[in-house]
Amino acid sequence: MREDFLLLNPGPVPLSRDVREAMSEPMVSHRSAAFETVYERAQNGLEYVFERSTLDESRTSAGGQALILNGTATMGMEGAVANLVDEDDELVAVVNGKFGRRFKRIAERHCEVTPVEFTWGSPVDTDAVADAVSDDTGVVTIVHNETSTGLLNPVEQVGEIAAAHDARFVVDGVTSIGGDEFRVDDWNVDIAVTDGQKALAAPPGISALYVADRVAQNIDGEDAPFYQDLDWHARKADQHQTPFTSAIPLFRGLSIAVEEIRHEGMGERIGRHRQQSAAFRDAIEAMGLSLFPELNAESEYSNTLTAVQMPPGARGDDSEAFFDAVNERGVSVSGGQAHLGGEIFRVSNMGNLTAEQLLRGVRVVGRAFEDIGVDVDAAAGVAAAEERLR
Ligand code: PLP
Repeated sequence: MREDFLLLNPGPVPLSRDVREAMSEPMVSHRSAAFETVYERAQNGLEYVFERSTLDESRTSAGGQALILNGTATMGMEGAVANLVDEDDELVAVVNGKFGRRFKRIAERHCEVTPVEFTWGSPVDTDAVADAVSDDTGVVTIVHNETSTGLLNPVEQVGEIAAAHDARFVVDGVTSIGGDEFRVDDWNVDIAVTDGQKALAAPPGISALYVADRVAQNIDGEDAPFYQDLDWHARKADQHQTPFTSAIPLFRGLSIAVEEIRHEGMGERIGRHRQQSAAFRDAIEAMGLSLFPELNAESEYSNTLTAVQMPPGARGDDSEAFFDAVNERGVSVSGGQAHLGGEIFRVSNMGNLTAEQLLRGVRVVGRAFEDIGVDVDAAAGVAAAEERLR
């Protein structure tokens, strides 16, 4: 791998040198004071991110606890759902992309599920959600930033609906938390989930949950999967440990990554992500390409990744040539997932990217299309991004 190879796929994202170095330190026991210090640093940094993801870094939660899991966000999603439901409980899953569908599929293994589904890439119609949620609903799930389509979903409005029926609200903030605004209490979020390798710019293989104090009493862990017994995790987290052997190098990387976020400050970080994603969108439109997601009054384009429709000449099997051309220029971007394969490509601006790295992504996308004979205005794309980043 070239030293300057640039990962612009929506996770894993590039790691800082300090994060990488922390992961190669000599091994310690997961029951040692040395490890407890690592856990505590990671937990403090995560609680800062979960609780202060606003432009002015004001606190958004009256109280809660960050738990760190040995496993990616899918494990966290299942942990969150399975600790809140019994098999007869009703859960409403809002689905408008691959990760909303993942929540639905997870929940189907643990309780009765009513999906509220929209075409992938279409916005959530909150009236349909309001029709589906009732006083019998135990839990509502939603993905804040749908990574498969580049849409920012109306978490605040859906949280209001859940709260009006006293349902618990579980939010996947995997590609928003650490890069965009996230408000725990204002949005009635009971449990939030995030992943290491996305906007936190930590290594893959580790995830975190934020459990608001108001929901902690609903979690007794007894019927939860053994590995994701959140009551047990919470008790061990009080001692800065995990119930089972911790993935020590990953925890070390995470502890540095969240301290780097704190050093930048969430306000700055949100502003930077918004500016960089707007620059990318401007570039795409100036090149003559089209953004993929559809918006309504309650939805927005993602501030952490951009999903773009493949132009004629690069669709379906022809998309391979585009991805190869991007790769040959030392950059990686992602294609569409499931039925969106060959239909879209996705570019991330999560983590600690500089404006220059973002511009490199814009240049490479434009040149890759030119390489394969697709007519785009690459120079106009770069100029538009430069203008926004100025
Ligand atoms: N949720 C969202 C929004 C994601 O983007 C992803 C991964 O891309 C996941 C959940 C699942 O993460 P993992 O595959 O790391 O478990």
